[in-house]
Amino acid sequence: MAHTDESEEGLILDAIDKWVARKVAPVAMELEHGDVYPADLVEDMKELGLFGALIDPAYGGLGLSATTYSRIVTRIAREWMSLTGIFNSHLMMAQIVQRFGTDRQKEYWLPKFATGALRGGLGLTEPDAGTDLQAIRTTATRKGDKYVINGAKTWISNAIEGDANALLVKTDPSAEPRYKGMSMMIVTKIDPETKAPLPGVKNGKKLEKLGYKGIDSGEFIFEDYECDADLALVGGEEGRGFFMATGGLEIGRINIAARSVGIAQRALAESVAYAQTRKTMGKPICEHQAIQLKLGEMAAKTRAAELLVEDAARMYDTGERVDMEAGMAKYFASETAVDVATQAMRIHGGYGYSKEYPIERLYRDAPLMCIGEGTNEMQRIIIAKQLVKRNPV
Ligand SMILES: Cc1cc2nc3c(=O)[nH]c(=O)nc-3n(C[C@H](O)[C@H](O)[C@H](O)COP(=O)(O)OP(=O)(O)OC[C@H]3O[C@@H](n4cnc5c(N)ncnc54)[C@H](O)[C@@H]3O)c2cc1C
Repeated sequence: MAHTDESEEGLILDAIDKWVARKVAPVAMELEHGDVYPADLVEDMKELGLFGALIDPAYGGLGLSATTYSRIVTRIAREWMSLTGIFNSHLMMAQIVQRFGTDRQKEYWLPKFATGALRGGLGLTEPDAGTDLQAIRTTATRKGDKYVINGAKTWISNAIEGDANALLVKTDPSAEPRYKGMSMMIVTKIDPETKAPLPGVKNGKKLEKLGYKGIDSGEFIFEDYECDADLALVGGEEGRGFFMATGGLEIGRINIAARSVGIAQRALAESVAYAQTRKTMGKPICEHQAIQLKLGEMAAKTRAAELLVEDAARMYDTGERVDMEAGMAKYFASETAVDVATQAMRIHGGYGYSKEYPIERLYRDAPLMCIGEGTNEMQRIIIAKQLVKRNPV
């Protein structure tokens, strides 16, 4: 399994810290408030190798461990969480090819994904199917050496600015149980070689959101879209898409948990600093016990969330299935992000509500962490099922 040695990790994290301080921090506030796609930062992210972070070096990636990867994600999310979605959704698509693709698919897709020349995300959700993935209605029908795709996806990260997608489809809509009729396809909006737009696929509207600004969340509409069966059908075998989608979510959940830790760490750091400079009743507010109680709780929860992420990432790196550990990290860290961002707003008083401070941004970004990669309702159900499975009586 992937392993990143300490000196290599140190160099990478140092490069990330410098980039965040020099390039991201000066523009994050303005781009976030304007909901502007950070095109220049995406070019930097290509140079830093982030689009290939989890891709095997044999295909041009960095081949980082999940542990190092999650530390990178936390560092970037401390400054601007949205940036991590641009490469994480992309890497979930890449991971599906890397873990389940045929040799030809790996050789064809992964080098293009690793450089960021072809970027994209994961297309699971539909207007009538989010949590209940088996209810999707997008179909892929075999026609000779091609598949013809019809249907619609929504809420897809990188749908508009990206060009590729790992798309969950039904290849046998009447299959029972329903998951047996599901497959995963790699589809593109452009010809990967000539870059010419392809017919049969278009984007719907860009979706407006509370937070997670800058990154595009959009719709895909497929009308008789044709793709090469050999390159598109991941693994070359129908009926395995549901397993690929849910297996891919493990690293996605670790990532969301790592992002949540970034949000919580920043909210805590801002609060610790602010509480020392803001004075009321003749003393800094950090000397009021009501504020101390908040800071103490925020710090303990943030550290616990960080350790849960480290634990899940370390286990993922050993190659074990980590449904329960990734679920625990995702659940606890995302609830912590919401909680700590809310407490940070209280500590900042009226200034927490001001757009001149980063707190309102953290406060708007945090709730998505409870929804993405499986809602927190589902996480607790997954944890409970695993608990019972691992501890039979
Ligand atoms: C900003 C953003 C970006 C996103 N990016 C992507 C992306 O890149 N790719 C992608 O495929 N999707 C993406 N999504 C979609 C996201 O994964 C879904 O919103 C999420 O899975 C929940 O689905 P839903 O919104 O349809 O809610 P529903 O499934 O309708 O759920 C509604 C509520 O019911 C609860 N619930 C549902 N079923 C159960 C159950 N069995 N037991 C208990 N409670 C239940 C849920 O927890 C939730 O509270 C994104 C969403 C957002 C907001």
